[in-house]
Amino acid sequence: MSDDHPRYLAKELDANDPLAHLRDRFFVADDDLIYLDGNSLGRLPAATPAHLDRVIRHGWGDRLVRSWTSWIDWSRRIGDRLAATALGAREGEVAVSDSTSVNLYKLASAALDAAPAGRRTVLVDAEDFPTDRYVLQGLTDARGMTLRAMPSDLDHGLQPGELRAALDGDIALVLLSAVNYRSGALLDMATVNTAAREAGTVVLWDLSHAVGAIPVDLDGTGTDLAVGCTYKYLNGGPGAPAFLYVRRELQHRLRQPIQGWFGQRDQFRMAADYDPAPDVDRFLVGTPPILALAALDPALDVLDEAGVDRVREKGQRLGQLIIELTDAWLTPHGFRVASPRDPRRRGSHVSLHHPEALRISRALATQGRVVGDFRTPDRLRLGPAPLYTRFVDVWDAMDRLRDIAERRAWEQVADEPCRVT
Ligand SMILES: *Cc1c(COP(=O)(O)O)cnc(C)c1O
Repeated sequence: MSDDHPRYLAKELDANDPLAHLRDRFFVADDDLIYLDGNSLGRLPAATPAHLDRVIRHGWGDRLVRSWTSWIDWSRRIGDRLAATALGAREGEVAVSDSTSVNLYKLASAALDAAPAGRRTVLVDAEDFPTDRYVLQGLTDARGMTLRAMPSDLDHGLQPGELRAALDGDIALVLLSAVNYRSGALLDMATVNTAAREAGTVVLWDLSHAVGAIPVDLDGTGTDLAVGCTYKYLNGGPGAPAFLYVRRELQHRLRQPIQGWFGQRDQFRMAADYDPAPDVDRFLVGTPPILALAALDPALDVLDEAGVDRVREKGQRLGQLIIELTDAWLTPHGFRVASPRDPRRRGSHVSLHHPEALRISRALATQGRVVGDFRTPDRLRLGPAPLYTRFVDVWDAMDRLRDIAERRAWEQVADEPCRVT
């Protein structure tokens, strides 16, 4: 390659990468397939199948119902692990159960019940992940409240100044993502929390694209409420249960709407009436998916070993490499970086704008053997998960993308919609 970005420089970055050895801790079926979608579904940790096999054979198979003496607090135990490893939360503030959408519903509903009387508006970012808006639409409709979707820049995200201007005395709750799912734009949680507090309201954070990618400090940033996925950068597997966080000091004041027996104080006393547990357990509902929870232990082992700070540093450098190579190779072919260029303002994924992004993402996957994804309206999203993505993977992926661009290979690709993009 005769240009300013030779492949051996990427090899050098790998040779000096303190996380390089962790790639072997993941199952990689095909070394030639470049996976840049770890922000959608993280890879399978190599230790997970044997661990699940043990839980299934010994926990379920041998010990049967007696295993519940241990399983009963796994939502809490794994929540505490996650709190310490990736969330900067204290013990007893995080529980793992249900999906992110359901946890959003539970915490948003609880927060609206506790909001100061007379406040009738919920504020969301118009460009946030759809499920967040849908859940809040349902809640505000049912309560005769107003959902206000703040417009935000597709590439750079919401600016704290815009948010501050929107925080009037009618706001009952603000729902925001720390890292935008499309652009990767990052919001400063401490700044936003302070602004919300000054306006007499609280923020419910969605951390789905942040957790396991950037250091989150829920305690230090004064966060009250948060939810997030465990199947993206946390590698918990498809449909892995999500987490919820409620600041300790708030827990006794919040009541979630789904009154199930796992949220009940002394659940095995089987009392006639619902009396919520005094702690974070009150945000649980029913029997947790033990096998899916179990998969989080080996996944968190790898993240523990890496340390989120090192993951963050590598994530920023992988993103910078995507941006540098886009500028050097792809701009002449109509691509544009559609994410913040400043690595401090961005999570671990980068989006590229191109009018043919849908067909390009398909050509890249089938002909280039590079898995990224397409996000509406015209973005190719690349998420190089630092635990297992090499710098040379990014270099090769961008080289294959350049080849597809030069050959206009997408012109042969269909652009009809499909169920999953
Ligand atoms: C991935 C993602 C979700 C997914 O929610 P599920 O209930 O797990 O389907 C929610 N919010 C955001 C911001 C996401 O990125």
